[in-house]
Amino acid sequence: MTNSLPEMAHIWQHTLNWLPQEEQQHKFQQLYELIIEGNRQLNLTRITEPQEFWEKHLWDSLRGIAPQGGLIPSVLENASVIDIGTGAGFPGVPVAIALPNCEITLVDSTRKKVNFIDEVLTKLTLSNSKTVVGRAEEIGHHPQYRKTYDVALIRAVGNAAVCAEYTLPLLKQGGLAVIYRGNWTVEETTALQNAVSQLGGVIELVDQFTTPLTNSMRHCLYLRKVATTAASFPRAVGIPTQKPL
Ligand code: SAM
Repeated sequence: MTNSLPEMAHIWQHTLNWLPQEEQQHKFQQLYELIIEGNRQLNLTRITEPQEFWEKHLWDSLRGIAPQGGLIPSVLENASVIDIGTGAGFPGVPVAIALPNCEITLVDSTRKKVNFIDEVLTKLTLSNSKTVVGRAEEIGHHPQYRKTYDVALIRAVGNAAVCAEYTLPLLKQGGLAVIYRGNWTVEETTALQNAVSQLGGVIELVDQFTTPLTNSMRHCLYLRKVATTAASFPRAVGIPTQKPL
């Protein structure tokens, strides 16, 4: 029997101005149980204690779509959202649970992880979500995905320039990429400007915040797509990580 996740209603309310309904709370618990079970076969996450899972996986995933404590306007209006390198489903699956009106595409290059997420989506009846097995460098050129999304999420996949190259080609003009980071410095923002502008974006916001249970400092970078991304991006598989812009 898996432990119960804490509800933390007051924290959701205070930090995100959002409160999970009972059904959403139940889906968070189901997700947790499936991940604990899936961890026996697959290396999904090292974060398995209920409080830590709540903070580092659930709360952190949703904090990214609520910069400075309020949900991104487009996600309130049936946005199309893509999560690149979703792994065990973060941040995309909590976002799919919280925002049933959004369409979520969950991408990972590892088939085993995607198979696991498919099972999660079925068991949680998350009909607003679908999965794709593939590499960001390839799906970024595919007409079915390129220039298609309002929001692109990416957490723990590579350095910020790599994340920018993976996400910006997928966005419609005016769309927003959200890059989840731990530590971040002003110097890193300066160093990232050139890569982002080559990809047709601007750094709109660097949001610094502390997590509600352990007070750890984290950052999310918000990149707005303001121009077309050149057809040469993303570069071929492996090049973005070998030679970040
Ligand atoms: N985003 C999840 C999280 O924050 O818990 C998982 C992070 S895990 C460290 C990185 C994931 O990105 C892995 O599941 C890996 O298979 C995937 N990945 C790495 N490079 C990728 C690429 N170029 N395209 C698609 N997925 C990629």
